[in-house]
Amino acid sequence: MRIAVCPGSFDPITLGHLDIIRRAAKIFDEVIVLVSINPAKNNCSFTTEERIHLIEKTIAGMDHVRVDSTDGLLADYLREKGACAIVKGLRAVSDFEYEFQMSLANKHLNPEAETIFFTAAAENMYLSSSIVKQIASFGGDISEFVPACILDEIKSRLLRK
Ligand code: ADP
Repeated sequence: MRIAVCPGSFDPITLGHLDIIRRAAKIFDEVIVLVSINPAKNNCSFTTEERIHLIEKTIAGMDHVRVDSTDGLLADYLREKGACAIVKGLRAVSDFEYEFQMSLANKHLNPEAETIFFTAAAENMYLSSSIVKQIASFGGDISEFVPACILDEIKSRLLRK
């Protein structure tokens, strides 16, 4: 049983995240979309529960994908679940240095786990949760950036702010 973890803040989940999750699901027996909670980082727009709910709606029907959250170390989470890989998406060069550093740190903490990078799809290369939030907060069109099933929820939630 090969289990992969796709960690992130998913604040909120976008089509860029979904593409990586789908591709991971083709390769691994089980994929856990892991909402990472960093108590020191208080700048998320959506609560953990809201982020999990949006992911649940997005992955409904994907039978070996599930969502979970952790406020602990990713390396420990992988060990606890018997997961063998961390799957991440790589966008522009700007992602590289940070992801490389994280990958080395995780390798140090859990030598059994590999970090695997999928290159972002060309159309998602410049897509991020922050861009979605910025556009939506001004009432702009985000329909090409987030899954259709959660579009209205994200729009009304962000406009409300
Ligand atoms: P963000 O950087 O948008 O806040 P997260 O911290 O939630 O995203 O990222 C979780 C993972 O998803 C990271 O590996 C990140 O590189 C990847 N990811 C985020 N947006 C995209 C995208 N548009 N295309 C591919 N991968 C992405």
